[in-house]
Amino acid sequence: MCGIVGYTGKRPVVDILLDGLEQLEYRGYDSSGVALKCSESIKVYKAEGKLKNLREELAPHAYELTKSTSGIGHIRWATHGSPTVVNAHPHTCNCGNLVIVHNGIIENYKELRAELEAKGCKFKSQTDTETVAHLVASIYGEVRNLTKAVQLATKKLEGAYALCIMHNDEPGVIVATKRNAPLIIGVGENEFYIASDVPAFIKHTKKAIYLNDNQVATVTPDALKLEDENGMIISPKVEQLPWEPVALSKMGYKHFMLKEIHEQPDVIRNILVGKLHTSDTPIVLDEVKLTKQTLKDLNRIQIIACGTSLHAAMVGKYIIEGFCGIPVDVEASSEYIYRKTVTDAHTLVIGVSQSGETADTLTAIKQSKSRGSHILIITNRPDSAMAREADSLVPVSAGIEVSVAATKSYVAQLTSFYLLALYMAEVKGTMEQAELTALKAEMLILPQKIEQILAHKDEIQRCARKYSNTRDFIYIARGINYPTALEGALKLKEISYINATGYPAGELKHGPIAMLDETMPVLSILMKGSVYEKLLSNSEEAKARNARMVALTNSTDPKLDDLFDFIIRVPEVNELLSPIIAVIPLQLIAYYIAEFLGKDVDQPRNLAKSVTVE
Ligand code: GLU
Repeated sequence: MCGIVGYTGKRPVVDILLDGLEQLEYRGYDSSGVALKCSESIKVYKAEGKLKNLREELAPHAYELTKSTSGIGHIRWATHGSPTVVNAHPHTCNCGNLVIVHNGIIENYKELRAELEAKGCKFKSQTDTETVAHLVASIYGEVRNLTKAVQLATKKLEGAYALCIMHNDEPGVIVATKRNAPLIIGVGENEFYIASDVPAFIKHTKKAIYLNDNQVATVTPDALKLEDENGMIISPKVEQLPWEPVALSKMGYKHFMLKEIHEQPDVIRNILVGKLHTSDTPIVLDEVKLTKQTLKDLNRIQIIACGTSLHAAMVGKYIIEGFCGIPVDVEASSEYIYRKTVTDAHTLVIGVSQSGETADTLTAIKQSKSRGSHILIITNRPDSAMAREADSLVPVSAGIEVSVAATKSYVAQLTSFYLLALYMAEVKGTMEQAELTALKAEMLILPQKIEQILAHKDEIQRCARKYSNTRDFIYIARGINYPTALEGALKLKEISYINATGYPAGELKHGPIAMLDETMPVLSILMKGSVYEKLLSNSEEAKARNARMVALTNSTDPKLDDLFDFIIRVPEVNELLSPIIAVIPLQLIAYYIAEFLGKDVDQPRNLAKSVTVE
């Protein structure tokens, strides 16, 4: 969600900012802008929509701007005010001497705005951010020092922010600070980068400083000064990033989403390396610090997550309860944080987040940590804020996911949950050895099974074409695949804007069945196992209301041919592992429908990849 890039050094800044912003595009945005320190003044350029519009805006000024060597840039995901040029960042104070980019939400902006307007500040936008520009500028008028002004101003701010600020009277200086939003400083030779995420500068430097909340960094080409909010000097911890600059390439696929769907077999293989060697050796999770005694002392587990991660968490509940006999609650982080939650030292709190920066989950984790709970984080970003809060970590190692709609990170989260649940069952001794061995053996061959599905994707594409004209889509399942139905429906909603809903099949007759008629597709996730027959009956009920029936199944039962108009077959798999297999065709259906409808598959409207506001 939103991206910030800043640079101060000796090289022309424009392309560094634009390239950096391009590397952050995956986060989702609706407008963009840059501010560049030029000889007399700071110049601001902004555009609605994609970065190419900003590039066009800048093109006529290319020559005069090459002299500029410090600047800040932003891609915005609007929270306050529509995505227009006026609301795009950078924002300025009245005289234009101070410029600011911001990620987050200033919760008390209305009060601050009223105070500043009473003092004569003239606001141009509807954003919360502009308030910070006027606030810092008004303090700057008194203290004449940008760092000091930022320190004093941020004391008045409520909410979340990552901020980069420049002032025309302090050439080459950028002040950066953050609270509950990510901001990282890249350390180069006689130059510094500032960004919301590492890809923005990784091709220039692998040395980085992760800012902590309320720290204020002041950078010039030759120096970095780190202070707390009161001006106390802090010695910066420079880390060596373990990243290689990855060219974000589609590798010949039409979209990143399709490429990422195809990466899933290898993603599982990568996760299993070093953790699950063979079916009869114990699972190794080096960064999980749950001893036999800690597990024995646990009364309950709470898993908190948002969006797709929430669906992985629901599968996690099913298997942890099943394998380990510990009660598990799953809750959306945004609901969890604003009620009295009962967690203590006997609760294990698991946070799941692709980016490790999801604001709601991060807040929930901090709350539980302060009550003494053991915090375990499942994330694709071991360098994220959430990973830094963790007592135990399960890195999902899916590699950078560019498509806003999560696919490979979901399958990676599921795989991590299986490893964790089996690991806890081994430590606690709650599962029969034979069952453990069988599940582990089958996990090792999941990648081949996914490859078999991908090899028949034309069939799934045909199914997608057949149903692409629908306005609504219902997905039904029971038991461990109920979250798969939710995830399949979410994928379709996210990228095609079709109104898709997942239901536990048994609930159909308690309400949703009223919607069924010959226009409504109902996709039934019929995996062989404990609820197969029940789901078959629920599918019959839907068929009796003339719904257009689709089956996703690993059964060869001939009965299905009469019941369903379209059957997508997947390989045999143990029911307990079937969510990893069943979700693949659902990702492909969503992809092919959206692609057929000509939607912006990788960057669907209104969505952001890394949701850093509550
Ligand atoms: N709240 C700010 C705005 O709406 C910043 C949004 C963002 O993080 O992109 O402009």
